[in-house]
Order: sequence, then C-alpha cells, then structure tokens
Amino acid sequence: MDTILVTGGAGFIGSAVVRQLVRDGKRVVNLDKLTYAGNPESLKTIAKATNHRLVEGDVLDGEMVLALLREERVEGIMHLAAESHVDRSIDGPGAFVETNVVGTFRLLDAALEYWRGLEGEQKQAFRFHHISTDEVFGDLPFDGSMFTEETPYAPSSPYSASKAASDHFVRAWHETYGLPVVLSNCSNNYGPYHFPEKLIPLVILNALEGKPLPVYGKGDNVRDWLYVQDHATALIKVLTQGAVGESYNIGGNQERTNLAVVEAICDALDERRPLESGGKRRHLITFVTDRPGHDRRYAIDASKIERELGWAPQESFDSGLAKTIDWYLDNEWWWGPIRSGNYAGERLGADKK
Ligand code: NAD
Repeated sequence: MDTILVTGGAGFIGSAVVRQLVRDGKRVVNLDKLTYAGNPESLKTIAKATNHRLVEGDVLDGEMVLALLREERVEGIMHLAAESHVDRSIDGPGAFVETNVVGTFRLLDAALEYWRGLEGEQKQAFRFHHISTDEVFGDLPFDGSMFTEETPYAPSSPYSASKAASDHFVRAWHETYGLPVVLSNCSNNYGPYHFPEKLIPLVILNALEGKPLPVYGKGDNVRDWLYVQDHATALIKVLTQGAVGESYNIGGNQERTNLAVVEAICDALDERRPLESGGKRRHLITFVTDRPGHDRRYAIDASKIERELGWAPQESFDSGLAKTIDWYLDNEWWWGPIRSGNYAGERLGADKK
C-alpha cells in the first residue's frame, strides 16, 4: 500500500501517523478541516517532503472526498478526523454528531463508491481503517477487569456515543456492502503536539507557569496511558496487517489515576525548572466539582494486537512522560501561540478526546 488518505492528519494523533508514514516513504494525502484542533505547524518537520499533500477540507463533503480518492488513486484510508474533546461534547454535542457520525457516514459512502470502481489486486488490497476510542465501552469498576474487543458498547458522554455510532456504521458497511474495513479502539494518548486543552499538556503548561491545577472530583479516575508514537506504530500495523472486518484494542498497560498523573508532572517540573519561590508544584493542585458522566476507570486488554500483529508499546508511562515534558519545554514556538488564546482557564482532570 503506497498511497494513503489520512483524515484529521493535522491533529494530535493524525499528525504523528502522517509524520511516520512520510518517513516510511508512503505518499500521504492528508485531508483536514483545520478546526481549532488541527494545526499545520504540527507538520513542520515534513514541510518539504514531496510525498505529503495537505488538503484543507471537510469529511462531510462526500463529493470532494470521492474526487480526491480518484485523483490520488488512494489504496487505503485511515480515518482519524473527529471532534475529540469530551468537555466540548458536553457543552455542544451537535458538532460531534455532525463530524463523528454524519462525517463518518459520508466518508464510508465515498469510500464504497470508490472501492466498487476498483478492480483486481487494487480492489483486494484496499482498506478502510476507522480509528476509535476505548470510551465506547463505558467505564470499568476498580477490580482489575479490562476492555476486550468483545466488551459490549456502553458509551457515557456525547463524545463516546458519537464514536460508538461511527464504529457501528463502519461495521455495517462491511457486513452489508462488503467494504474491507479494520477498526481499532485505543486508550488515552499523550505526547508531543497534544493540544493544550487536554489533561497532560495543560497540566505541564499551567504547572510550568505556577498556575492552579484544578482536578475533577478526588482525582481518582483511572486512565490507561499510551505514548502517541506507540499508537501511530500500532495503527500502521492494523492498516497493513489487520484482518478485514476485525477490530483491535490498543493500550499502553499503564493505568494511572488522574491525580497520580498530575503529581508526576509536578515532580518532574520541580526537578527540571524549580519554582523561584522554592515551593513544590503539588501545592498548586485544587479539587473541583466532578464532570457529569465522568467514567471511573478505563483499562485495555491489548493481547489481541500483540498476539496477532506482533505489536507492543515501547514506552512506559515514566519514559513517555519524560519525553513529553522535555518536548513541551523545548517547543514553546508550537504551544505559545495556542496558549495565548483562552484555553488556560479550562478545568483539568479528565482527558483527551
Ligand atoms: P484531535 O482533536 O487532535 O484532531 C482531530 C483532527 O480532525 C483535527 O486536525 C481537526 O482539524 C480534524 N477535523 C475535525 N473535524 C473535521 C472534519 N469535519 N473534516 C476533516 N477534518 C476534521 O484528535 P486526536 O486526539 O488526534 O484524535 C484522533 C482520532 O483518534 C479521533 O477519531 C479520536 O476519537 C481518536 N482517539 C483519540 C484518543 C486520544 O487520546 N486523543 C484516544 C483514542 C482514540
């Protein structure tokens, strides 16, 4: 597979996938609406690459997508474009239904028409890879249980409900029309180029500036953290080696409470950039009213992708967090302009998406 259409490739995970594919020598057509979450600056390291084309466009525009697939003779699609922030989905669910549900439907329809026009080996090799989240499974008790690919869907937030709906449409396009799809559901990602409204980058930057670190509830919600580069590697394996019609859970096997994450960031920054006052950053933590529908615990059983596709994460939470903190300390050019907007005042304590 040489030519791949990536949707949402100017976002956090999409840009990591695009940078990796371009380094691997693939031709990447990157379709992104460039919403507040899409940032072409995240693609600066591949700005001169001749095998990358950034197209500003909306997945809701099925005709444009179909024309692009034909023009570029695309061999596989990785669909990452989405509205991804849970707090925003609570304040305005409509955009999540539009992009995540209707947008996925339009993309599927365009992909199906395109795929039906292919022949022979090209038709055989084509894949539609839908990238989703572990949040579609709802939440887990604090008992060591984990999400498997067979866990029933039970989404709690408008975001996870919209992603669950999109997963169902993707499966239906395979079962009903035969479109060759693969799916993956991943745990919380973190790493470089993460938009600073999400927990880890927001805590890093607020803590760096000595600002308060409000945490939802008691901070005891548990997430399973995966370094974004490990996710990008897994996604490329699922696209190229995954079995048609199958889904793969992807996780880092690194469960942490939100409070433990915030404390680890405080301690790492105290070491690297001590506060002038000599105080400890853990004192900046304040507990605020919990988010409605806040899932208690997510944990991924990633044994299927390990067993069948030979993938395992390379980073532990500690090593990945150290890399992430160092990246933010070294790359103010990327986050400075975003921070000068109005994101710093938002509540912390949940996640990503
Ligand atoms: P992100 O918000 O950083 O990026 C989303 C990208 O999609 C942006 O570049 C945005 O401009 C683009 N986009 C939004 N609406 C669009 C539209 N209508 N047409 C074209 N482009 C559009 O998100 P992310 O964190 O990189 O997540 C990428 C995907 O991975 C999402 O589907 C998300 O549900 C899934 N996911 C994310 C995580 C996580 O921890 N961040 C975990 C599991 C799964």
